[in-house]
Amino acid sequence: MNKPALSKNYVYGPVPSRRLGFSLGIDLTPCKSCSFDCIYCQLGKTTHKTIRRFEFVDLKGLKYQLNRKLLSSSRIDYITISGSGEPTLHKNLNKIIKLLKKSSQGKIPLALITNSSLLSRRQVREEIKEVDLIVPSLDAATQRTFELIDRPYKNIRIENIIEGLIKLRRSFRGKIWLEIMLIRDINTTKREIARLASAVAKIKPDKIHINLPVRPARYGDLIPSLAQQRFAREQLGEICEIVDSFSRQKQQKMFTDIEKDIGAYLKRRPASIEDLEYAFGLNRNEIIKYLDILIRKGVVKQQNSKGQEYFIYGL
Ligand code: SF4
Repeated sequence: MNKPALSKNYVYGPVPSRRLGFSLGIDLTPCKSCSFDCIYCQLGKTTHKTIRRFEFVDLKGLKYQLNRKLLSSSRIDYITISGSGEPTLHKNLNKIIKLLKKSSQGKIPLALITNSSLLSRRQVREEIKEVDLIVPSLDAATQRTFELIDRPYKNIRIENIIEGLIKLRRSFRGKIWLEIMLIRDINTTKREIARLASAVAKIKPDKIHINLPVRPARYGDLIPSLAQQRFAREQLGEICEIVDSFSRQKQQKMFTDIEKDIGAYLKRRPASIEDLEYAFGLNRNEIIKYLDILIRKGVVKQQNSKGQEYFIYGL
């Protein structure tokens, strides 16, 4: 395999994911290009808020990195297009999807995680039609609440997003798992949940996942009460489940040598990626980067315990 000229790291993981098993992540955008600037975003402030699509990925670099991962990983349940921004901002996404399918010989299902903002465009729906699973988000069904939570690029209208999701459902043959981030006292009221339930009834997703903002974000504690969680789940029907139904103590620390500190932390106790995110106040991709280094050095190992992946020092 000839190594192409140095390019960004497009491939990360595979990382254990609650919904997708071992997921190999494909990062298509520079951090952080997005059409939204959600109050719960783990990647920090959106520095490039846009709806203009652009080409960013060097296909040769992506192919090289992907093939290496496919050869070295013992288990991959999904190849997941997501990353440091909104992936549908990448122009000609169909070329990327074709490359991913071809490299994995169509044996590994392909998932796309999107904020739904560009699904109202027929071109975008066409480009993504070959993936196996789409995980679109819909945090609100009223414009005011949508703007409060997702802080979209100007002129994005929630009714267009909902319309795009309805059209996607009609034309897309794969699975759609709709994701709703429930934010305390904002999209948890009777009125907001009723509007969401009415949108969901038209979209007809295969599943609905309610996410909770349990990871440290910029605006303090946004986790809804148990009563609010229960109410939303009941109103959104049987296909709805709560994904992050746990809460952890937030810890934000500054470290000068993160790799060393993660190693020292794991010496004291095994930890999951989520534990490390909380302990170090870093986003998932950053933690994975340091874990990758420690695993390659042979000082840290990954181990499954009761369905949860842990990282352990010095096995
Ligand atoms: S859509 Fe995703 S990447 Fe964009 S701001 Fe929201 S959470 Fe962050």
